[in-house]
Amino acid sequence: MGENAGWAPSGWPLWALPGRVRVLVLGVVLAVFGLMGLAARTVPTPEQWTAAGWLAAAALPHLHASHLVQRRRRARAGTPYLDLCSVWIFAGVIVLPLVLELALVAVLYAHRWVLVNRFDAVRPPHRAVFTAATLALAAAAAAGVLHSSGVQEHLADGARPGWPDLAAVVAAAAVQWAVNTALVGTVIAWTVPAEDPRRPLGSASDNLLEVGQLALGVFVALALLWWPPAALLMVVPTFALHQCVQLDQLKLAARTDQRTGLLNAAAWHEQAERALERARGRIAVLMIDLDWFKRINDTHGHPVGDDVLAEVATALTRAVRRGDTVGRYGGEEFAVLLPDVDEAEVRAIAERIRLRIRALRITAKTGEPVTLSATIGAALRPAEPGGGLDGLIRAADDALYAGKKAGRDRVAVATPQF
Ligand code: GH3
Ligand code: MG
Ligand code: MG
Repeated sequence: MGENAGWAPSGWPLWALPGRVRVLVLGVVLAVFGLMGLAARTVPTPEQWTAAGWLAAAALPHLHASHLVQRRRRARAGTPYLDLCSVWIFAGVIVLPLVLELALVAVLYAHRWVLVNRFDAVRPPHRAVFTAATLALAAAAAAGVLHSSGVQEHLADGARPGWPDLAAVVAAAAVQWAVNTALVGTVIAWTVPAEDPRRPLGSASDNLLEVGQLALGVFVALALLWWPPAALLMVVPTFALHQCVQLDQLKLAARTDQRTGLLNAAAWHEQAERALERARGRIAVLMIDLDWFKRINDTHGHPVGDDVLAEVATALTRAVRRGDTVGRYGGEEFAVLLPDVDEAEVRAIAERIRLRIRALRITAKTGEPVTLSATIGAALRPAEPGGGLDGLIRAADDALYAGKKAGRDRVAVATPQF
């Protein structure tokens, strides 16, 4: 999960956290200090010191390079700070004794904290400490798996590893992933509100990225055992991976409406077309237009209008079902695609949306309440193919127009013509 960030409200002050989160954070940090005490009893061999040196020599330039990539997009708030440190940390799990592994995590994260905080002072130190401690604990658990399987000794002896060794390494990677994900996921689940779209377990691509880092880490470990300077080459693929991930995030940003966080019109259209192709049952489109929105701008000012749009977007997202596609279609107009619905369900969902928008309590800076309502046009398509998205949108738009003429603040359903 990279930095595991983006999951906390900005600042994330320790004292403002729920009690159980504070207990978890402190517990993880104390556990790592305990482990350090235990691990410090082993004295590393000179070869292990050398391996640790090579790992740090590869990881530090990597951190600097990713920091440059990262800084270029600092302007976009809300995106998590990404690093691909698991590559180096998992390599360390395989080749280093625990004491050096913990030291490596400490050095990498101390260095990263200095790098990041020169530009972003809002991240409090305890958050970096928690991130580092989580990774240290996950790495220690993975090292435990390897230790009990004897694979480290086997590799260090210079023997050709076999399938059982590979199985042990995969199991260790799974444990590292599971411990990290469980700890970070728990904090996310306990700190962000239930309706927040961020998933405690991370998205599929977050997890793929994490698994990819662990796999690369295995190759770094092999290099460290047999040809240490070659480990430096891994800086290049990790950097390339970082660039690709960033490209993905930019693509996502290009599909998103900045004001509301919803899909923009083009992205909604594209996604709705795909949903329409997949849909087996009846499918419906809702066009939602805020009533007298110009007056809201004129009375309370444009910034209040902007706040209203953001609140409406949140209300909309909460009022629809999972799998419905919501987008901002125009200025104060929203579109929703509802797959597998009958007319009664469409009416029920549209009515729920209308009531939620009406129920929004927004106050302008002057303390005046903003009164808000919306008119919703709906159109349904039967299961047979034909009657594409554009036809549905037109029908929903006509219904919306009829609803406006009939007095606004209502749901109007197009009579099916298909
Ligand atoms: P009706 O009930 O007929 O829909 O009336 P209306 O005032 O909502 O409709 P109209 O189309 O006349 O006005 C839409 C307004 O929405 C005009 C425009 O300034 C405003 N608007 C469009 N995009 C934004 C935005 O991003 N922020 C703000 N604050 N206002 C916006
Ligand atoms: Mg409009
Ligand atoms: Mg309007």
